[in-house]
Amino acid sequence: MAEFFEEIADWQTPPEYKYFLGGKWVTSNSGQTNEIISPVDRTVLGRVQVVTKWEIDSAIETAKKAQKEWEGVSVDKRGKILHLAADWIREHQVYLTILLIKEIGKTTAEAKDEVLRTADLIDYFAEAAREMRGETLDADSFPGYEKGKLAIVGRVPLGVILAIAPFNYPINLSASKIAPALVLGNSVIFKPPTQGAICGLHLTEIFRRAGVPDGILSTVTGSGEEIGDYLVTHPGIDIISFTGSSKVGVAVAKKAGMIPLLFECGGNNPAIVLTDADLNLSALEIVKGAFSYSGQRCTAVKYVLGFSTTIDKLIPKLLKAAAEQVKMGDPRIETTKLVGPVINCEAAEEIENRIIKAKVEGGKILLGGKRKGLYIEPTIIDNARPQMEIVKIETFGPVLSLVRVNNMEEAIEIVNSSTFGLQASVFTKDEGTGIALAKKINVGTVQINSKPQRGPDHFPFLGIKGSGVGVQGVRYTLEAMTRPKPLVLNKPE
Ligand code: NAP
Repeated sequence: MAEFFEEIADWQTPPEYKYFLGGKWVTSNSGQTNEIISPVDRTVLGRVQVVTKWEIDSAIETAKKAQKEWEGVSVDKRGKILHLAADWIREHQVYLTILLIKEIGKTTAEAKDEVLRTADLIDYFAEAAREMRGETLDADSFPGYEKGKLAIVGRVPLGVILAIAPFNYPINLSASKIAPALVLGNSVIFKPPTQGAICGLHLTEIFRRAGVPDGILSTVTGSGEEIGDYLVTHPGIDIISFTGSSKVGVAVAKKAGMIPLLFECGGNNPAIVLTDADLNLSALEIVKGAFSYSGQRCTAVKYVLGFSTTIDKLIPKLLKAAAEQVKMGDPRIETTKLVGPVINCEAAEEIENRIIKAKVEGGKILLGGKRKGLYIEPTIIDNARPQMEIVKIETFGPVLSLVRVNNMEEAIEIVNSSTFGLQASVFTKDEGTGIALAKKINVGTVQINSKPQRGPDHFPFLGIKGSGVGVQGVRYTLEAMTRPKPLVLNKPE
């Protein structure tokens, strides 16, 4: 335990973490806790509270009241609090990195990257908030209107933001909701992922120590099953910012009713390799895209589309890149090449079953294919077909499928008929061809000659179809957490 975080838990072994309500660390009246087990070595890392409905009501009511005053605080002051939070993250980077490794099984390099990227993102939000601008509009450009009206359009906060984050980036994807909400004068109810809750509670303490006033940020723990429905249907919530699977996202969207939604959901991202592609580059990007953080990234490459001749030439390069770049092992070891465990037993079983099913259906295992506890060998499956589950839906593990197509129309049809639409990659030496193909692909973002990725974080990032609603990316997120408020000046002339 670092002294800085002393208040957030009873530091017995294993620690019992508190939840954060109205500026105080408290124990829930439910008397219930959830155990957090490390995917790395199955040790119990701690217990987190399961909050009651009454405690959720109280957090939301407090957030509503406190928000009015917070809205009146200057952007400059709110931004300074964010900068301090970013500095505290940097100050505690080693501690937070170790926490991430233990709680969600990231490798050292991946965990370090998440922590530092979060500090940079928070700083960027603080600065970008200063640049938010309103506008004025004259009426006379619309037929029938003379110069008698002037709209002064500013932006105002939405109110109370419900921030729900996924396990795979419990620091970064929590901060990417909390920071923009706060800097523009909203209050936040933060529900961290259960596996990742310990990281989320530490992040909360960082915002508290940086000066976020009491009641403006409350962090409620409990599983999605236990408290999710109550939170997302609560009348005190003004917008839900959710990142997680498409399955949960769709269910939440159906229940939430008529409030703004900002959703980042599952990805099932293809890489289309054209005949003229640089195959060494393609293989390297595809391997990194498929296997980093054990394939547990929304922007992971899940399948490759190419002509048979291209796939035949690509396979030895994929195998070589995998041999050089990836090695299954304990993520506590300091190496960038490691693929660690997947998050829990259910996930490992599901991935294993999908691989077995793919094999039964005619898939040919070129690499890996086996499971040892929570560790899934980096796996490449050839002869996959679009109808197979392994291609059709997101498999959140280190599995890459190769799909041979007869023409590019077929490849486009496979991507466009998918229920997912986050990102796609196109590999070609001819950028013109890449752009032309990208225009025909119906996904949020197309990457030409790179693996799919989120970031840099000020680029727009969005999923369509089952992959999301709304747009993220610094300015876009800030806009989404405010609404225009026109004041119309009627001036007789
Ligand atoms: P998940 O199971 O959908 O959970 C996401 C969050 O929703 C967690 O905090 C979870 O809480 C909560 N939740 C679960 N059921 C809920 C309910 N009924 N009501 C309200 N909240 C509920 O996703 P995950 O396994 O944590 O994350 C992996 C998924 O996220 C993948 O599909 C990945 O592609 C996607 N993802 C997308 C992006 C993107 O930017 N598009 C980025 C990262 C991840 P508990 O943990 O307590 O269940």
